[in-house]
Amino acid sequence: MAITRTPLIAGNWKMNLDHLQAIAFVQKLAWSLSDAKHDFGAVEVAVFPPFTDLRSVQTLVSADKLPLAFGAQDVSAHDSGAYTGEISGAFLAQLECSYVVIGHSERRTLHGETDEQVGAKVSAALKHNLVPIICVGETAEDLEEHGPSAVPVAQLRGALIGVASAADIVVAYEPVWAIGSGQAATPEQAEQVAAALRGVLAETLGEDVAAKTRILYGGSVKAANIAGFMREPNVDGALVGGASLDLDEFASIVRYQK
Ligand code: PGA
Repeated sequence: MAITRTPLIAGNWKMNLDHLQAIAFVQKLAWSLSDAKHDFGAVEVAVFPPFTDLRSVQTLVSADKLPLAFGAQDVSAHDSGAYTGEISGAFLAQLECSYVVIGHSERRTLHGETDEQVGAKVSAALKHNLVPIICVGETAEDLEEHGPSAVPVAQLRGALIGVASAADIVVAYEPVWAIGSGQAATPEQAEQVAAALRGVLAETLGEDVAAKTRILYGGSVKAANIAGFMREPNVDGALVGGASLDLDEFASIVRYQK
């Protein structure tokens, strides 16, 4: 029997919306998605607010039983101790986060995160029962020099070193040249890399994990282009940055029709 993967539409707010704005946004989003036409079983929706918003979002989601998952944008590789400014996976789990984004290109570029550090964070997330969303993607120079899949494949291999079993992980293919540029990859480009990434999952974690792992595309996703990505067999959702801050746009992305 073929495994079906529930699509995931994830909104990465980056460093936008304070906790008061987050409360208003999440309430409106839940309201906007709660009409009869939207089948919540068909698509999973998750938001990734800044750390300082998580407690507010948790309170809202659990008190009002909103059909939204949420997660953090990063996690420490360590559980506790002298790591000024870092946030432990144990703390995130206490706040009922389901997911954590790891290795976003902005972390890799602005904070020099290596594949090894990304891998250590993936292990930390799994230890605390957080589903890691492992971000990989090539720059425009990488694309020219090495072709489309080489860098994302190497990054995913690097992130999975030391990960013996991963019942639940998500991979996000986000070409750096497409992030925030308005120039999304084509669905065919996204599919080509997603298929290669699924191959890495099969090699490293086995066919079963590869078959059930969701692979997202990210990079200038909007309501006008989401359907094309979702038609591709290896693309199981989207990691949405800029458009996740526009309520109507994000709600339209969630309601994509193949
Ligand atoms: P974008 O960002 O949708 O604004 O291109 C995607 C991301 O960085 O996750």
